[in-house]
Amino acid sequence: MSFHELKEQISLCQDCRQKFGFTPHPIFRGTANSKIMQIGQAPSKKVHESGLPFNDPSGAKLKYQWYEITDDIFYDENNFYMTGLAHCFPGKHPKGGDNPPPLACANKWLAKEIVMVDNDLYIIIGARAAKYLFPKESFEDLVFRDSQFNGKPAIVLPHPSPLNVRWFKSHPSFEEKRVPEIREMIWDVLGL
Ligand code: SF4
Repeated sequence: MSFHELKEQISLCQDCRQKFGFTPHPIFRGTANSKIMQIGQAPSKKVHESGLPFNDPSGAKLKYQWYEITDDIFYDENNFYMTGLAHCFPGKHPKGGDNPPPLACANKWLAKEIVMVDNDLYIIIGARAAKYLFPKESFEDLVFRDSQFNGKPAIVLPHPSPLNVRWFKSHPSFEEKRVPEIREMIWDVLGL
């Protein structure tokens, strides 16, 4: 399968229609040579509606406060390949928050994207994504150190969602010390 065919197949995927109870909207973007492959968890409802990854409060924190880059840089497909464990918004959970991302999506599609995208750096966002890609590692350890994934440098981030405020409060050194290190790595790869 070519990279073009892979993207087309993901775009047309409706595997979770019955499980979700609504029409899935696969959202991902980038090229086979994007410099950074960013692997999140699943699009939010706002992203489901807009079709643009991280076009929500989580994205605002990620792009403007942590990466300190503009939308022009973030959405340049030569810079970022944006994908996730699930490519579609999985619906709202009756007790609040979103449903967990269906891992069948990661098994089916993310594994192929990882093989085909020739990136220089991985950014893995959120504890669920970290658990999927680093099943034996502690999330806390991963966040505070540089890692390797698929033979390339990898950074693990906590989810930037405003709902994650308790984690940020209990880990002040993440934004004080770790974010500047992460930003430097990202800027290096992007040539900023
Ligand atoms: S979440 Fe993944 S597997 Fe499910 S419909 Fe979307 S693209 Fe297909």
